[in-house]
Amino acid sequence: MAIRRFTPHPLVLRRLTVVRVVDITPRMRRVTLGGAQVGGFERDGLRHPPFASPMFDDHVKLLFSTDGPVEAVLPKQLAHGIEWPIAAAREGRDYTPRRVGDGEIDLDFVVHSGPVEAGPAEAWAGAAKPGDVLWTVGPKSSTVLPDDIDRLILIGDETALPAIGRCFEERPVSAPVHAIITVADESARQELALRPEDRITWVVAEPGDARALARAVAESGAMDSATHPYVWAAAESQALLPLRRALTREHGIPRSHLDITGYWHARVPARDPSDPKAAPSEKQVAGAAAPADSPVAWFAVRAALQLHLFEALEPRPLPASSLATRIGLKRAELDPLVAVLADRAYLVVEGQRLRISGRGMQLLSDDHAREAFDGFEASQILALQNLPEALRDGGTAWERTNGASVIAQAATDAELHDELLERAEGLAYLMPALLAARPWGEKAAVAVRGPGAAVVGDALRKGGEGSACRVVEQGADTEVHAHALAHLTDAEARAYLSGEIPVASMLLIESTRADALDPRTSEHELLRLATTGAPTRSAERLIELAAECGWTAAGTTELGWGVSCLAFTAGPGASSARIPRGS
Ligand SMILES: Cc1cc2nc3c(=O)[nH]c(=O)nc-3n(C[C@H](O)[C@H](O)[C@H](O)COP(=O)(O)OP(=O)(O)OC[C@H]3O[C@@H](n4cnc5c(N)ncnc54)[C@H](O)[C@@H]3O)c2cc1C
Repeated sequence: MAIRRFTPHPLVLRRLTVVRVVDITPRMRRVTLGGAQVGGFERDGLRHPPFASPMFDDHVKLLFSTDGPVEAVLPKQLAHGIEWPIAAAREGRDYTPRRVGDGEIDLDFVVHSGPVEAGPAEAWAGAAKPGDVLWTVGPKSSTVLPDDIDRLILIGDETALPAIGRCFEERPVSAPVHAIITVADESARQELALRPEDRITWVVAEPGDARALARAVAESGAMDSATHPYVWAAAESQALLPLRRALTREHGIPRSHLDITGYWHARVPARDPSDPKAAPSEKQVAGAAAPADSPVAWFAVRAALQLHLFEALEPRPLPASSLATRIGLKRAELDPLVAVLADRAYLVVEGQRLRISGRGMQLLSDDHAREAFDGFEASQILALQNLPEALRDGGTAWERTNGASVIAQAATDAELHDELLERAEGLAYLMPALLAARPWGEKAAVAVRGPGAAVVGDALRKGGEGSACRVVEQGADTEVHAHALAHLTDAEARAYLSGEIPVASMLLIESTRADALDPRTSEHELLRLATTGAPTRSAERLIELAAECGWTAAGTTELGWGVSCLAFTAGPGASSARIPRGS
């Protein structure tokens, strides 16, 4: 189930030009963008809507190239979405549209580079002058706030200032707003559009100072006396961890009323790889993308999560003997586990005590970080042990490990079932593309099936008249199957497509290309092979499978992000179950 609601937007790649550049404070540079593509425009025969950013915390992705012209690394604009081919030199950075109007878009750039080198966004803004070109994509979606908010609490560092400033001006809710903002220097403070009932707390602190942020919130009194606060926070990702813990555990803010986003990642210079003794610092390891860098470390983290070791250390550091007692282990059993966790910077040894590190905290506070050790993905990784046998002798590594296929197991395992549904929720971002393409034709009665049924059904219902279809349970003209084949083996996919699909027209929404934006694409493809016996099925492969089951391909709509909507009609050899009712 989606915890927070959002409205997806059609994704458009725009070429904008700099109109003017103004330093609004010594630490914030405003670049105003304009050009024909701020409005509705046509390119390569495709018509695109005007730039729109309805919500204060929307963001656009700015595109840069580290090697050669940016035009060589741009994503591909589809009729109804964006495709991201692999481009090693492409760098994307997210920024908040601070103001949209009069054919212009303001972006405010924090001037942050100190001892570290400026990144591509700051460097670009630093040199920007009228006439310069900037390519952007988005916004891809806007948050929908709950309607029971009696106080809006905004917490952030300077990167959050554009969104916070916009929120004061645009007032997405009528409730009073309390903002707590850390700035590196008094000179970074800005005049914001406060009303008498609003409050603002400015705190001077180093960028990325977690303690300062959490302390500022605790001392501000913002959380007192609000019955239904909505808390929005954006700052350095690690700095938000103690705040997240305080908000969820001490203040009991439900996930529907909490929006915490890491806006940037603190980095320190890479250590010398030729020095084998150089231990990684906590921050270096914390920024690593891979879940663990050796199978032993992966198993150690998995064990620690399952033994609730991190939770035991979360309130305060403990001596190893106390930790062992807390989690029901003998000291001799705990020590080797702790040693690996400390080596990999999930724990820090401080004299006699063990402390959870930022990396360990991330596992506690971030569901996605934990998934790689303790959910569907962890089960996929465990299945790899049987990959050689599966490749040699048939079947899938998953079946050999678990005794049943993913989908058979999900029928009796509620957690797995829910996780497969959750994985389909990302389809929500592609719904504007689907609604615009209307692959079901006009005035169709559409039934929606598969793990993505809730997301697609919801979008079609909300699309109303514009979707040109009615969502029905029975008596459909067309069935949309959303991610229905994603976790099936080929044999299961054939059985599914040959089974009861009592319509003459079917749409399959499936990933047909590996996700090029996923930093672990190759690993995820191997995990798919272990799970279903096949890497991501291409559109051609899906058409082939469907043809074996009596379906004739009738066109493909690319929805973006490697996802296709393939249309089929029941072919002459189709089973009688597929003849539409009433004919
Ligand atoms: C949804 C969203 C909206 C955002 N909106 C804005 C916005 O409106 N204005 C804005 O200025 N930023 C905003 N940010 C943050 C911005 O995207 C990051 O700061 C980004 O890393 C800057 O890119 P860069 O190329 O300058 O630096 P990078 O190449 O990303 O980083 C270079 C170095 O600078 C450090 N660094 C990066 N950002 C900061 C910082 N703010 N302070 C100190 N050190 C830093 C990094 O740790 C690294 O060492 C937003 C981020 C998100 C996710």
